[in-house]
Amino acid sequence: MKLDVDVLRYLSKDDFRVLTAVEMGMRNHELVPSELVVRIASLKHGGTYKVLKNLLKYKLLHHDSSKYDGFRLTYLGYDFLAIKTLVNRGVFVAVGRQIGVGKESDIFEVAKEDGTVLAMKLHRLGRTSFRAVKSKRDYLGHRNNYNWLYLSRLAALKEFAFMKALEEHGFPVPNAVDCNRHCVVMSLVQGYPLVQVKQLQNPDIVFETIIGLVVHLAEHGLIHCDFNEFNIMIDDDEKVTMIDFPQMVSVSHRNAQMYFDRDVECIFKFFSKRFNLSFQEHTDEIDGDTEEYDRPCFSSIEKCTGFLDKELSASGFTGKDQDEIEKFIEEGIEKDTGSEDEGMADEGPNSDEFDETNIKEFDSLQLLEQPERVNCDEKGKAEERQQFCEAGQSSGRETQDTSDKFLKEEEANETGNEDDAELMHRLNKQRRRAVAAVHGRRKTLTSRNSYKDKGGKSSHNSKIQKQLSGW
Ligand code: ADP
Ligand code: MG
Repeated sequence: MKLDVDVLRYLSKDDFRVLTAVEMGMRNHELVPSELVVRIASLKHGGTYKVLKNLLKYKLLHHDSSKYDGFRLTYLGYDFLAIKTLVNRGVFVAVGRQIGVGKESDIFEVAKEDGTVLAMKLHRLGRTSFRAVKSKRDYLGHRNNYNWLYLSRLAALKEFAFMKALEEHGFPVPNAVDCNRHCVVMSLVQGYPLVQVKQLQNPDIVFETIIGLVVHLAEHGLIHCDFNEFNIMIDDDEKVTMIDFPQMVSVSHRNAQMYFDRDVECIFKFFSKRFNLSFQEHTDEIDGDTEEYDRPCFSSIEKCTGFLDKELSASGFTGKDQDEIEKFIEEGIEKDTGSEDEGMADEGPNSDEFDETNIKEFDSLQLLEQPERVNCDEKGKAEERQQFCEAGQSSGRETQDTSDKFLKEEEANETGNEDDAELMHRLNKQRRRAVAAVHGRRKTLTSRNSYKDKGGKSSHNSKIQKQLSGW
């Protein structure tokens, strides 16, 4: 299954209404029976069944009759809902090539109206830790099978909140632009993952900077927990940017010392292997020559717990969210042996959905039927987040009234500028330009598993440059 944004442009208002109805139904149904979809969507002239068929055709929904007859959103359907919301808010206007496949995410370039390129991360929780999720059935209770949607949303919210807070504290992280459902939009890092870099001008300085970051994070009360060459980006000037924050924990976590040591060890190992830096081994011997590369000691760092709490909750990420997500990812990060263990093996009933790694080349997202409403209003976002905080948590409390209200709001978002013919004209023109611009563009994919086949940092960079100049 691929992220074919072409489909998005041809979906009607009714299609989105029904898709949203299924999303709402999934708050308390593993599979949403068609009668419930009909009731929530309450299309004026009926026709929900026809729309359902259309959504199935485009693989935005999955029909399942194994336990009982019903529908659930696929990741693609969830992608479309998030993308559409972000396009309506004016966050971006077009989706480009896929630039990364993470352990539990797909990353795409997206373009703003003024041509600025950003990165969009679609979280796919469950891709590698599905077994961990399955083993938490007790906790998941009745929502065991459809919780990926809720978990991916939580992971995105956490990532967005941490990125924002870290940026405010001067850490070298991407700029957190916006977040909706399982999708985070951030600035595009003009570099390449350290794992792709074969040579450095100043490996010592880069190494010290990176280890300094681990220590600095701990001083701010945080541990990255997946700090390795895949999550450190580096540019031509050897400037370091760290990415990927959904698994971060506090220094007061019961396994904090272990996570901290593991992050440090990953970096020491990588620099020793790749750049032949020599370090003092973990022994009792004291060797004056290599003292400067001693591993930092967790217990001797002066830590400031709770320092980032205010910023985190300002982004809508609560302590409760942290507890919830930790329950799921903990098993994953405890098992994860770091950079060596990058398998993408998926097992489990939904594994077919996680294989959405095909690349969609750049294409504009001007929806034919939905002129965009630019809405970056913080309050609106907070409310929306609140609504989706409840996804997977509520227990049968949505009524026809609330669903009507929600759907009306969604529609209001879509139709806010319907009269604006000039805007429509501009957007369509822009779409045509964008489509023309991508004509002949090559597919490129940065996979954390495929770096060995790539030509090192310069080749990746030139692809980015080419892409940028094309836009
Ligand atoms: P995961 O959580 O699934 O590991 P990451 O956030 O680490 O996902 O992203 C996976 C890959 O996508 C990274 O290794 C990197 O190549 C690319 N990537 C992620 N974020 C950005 C960004 N802001 N700019 C450029 N590339 C990015
Ligand atoms: Mg990563």
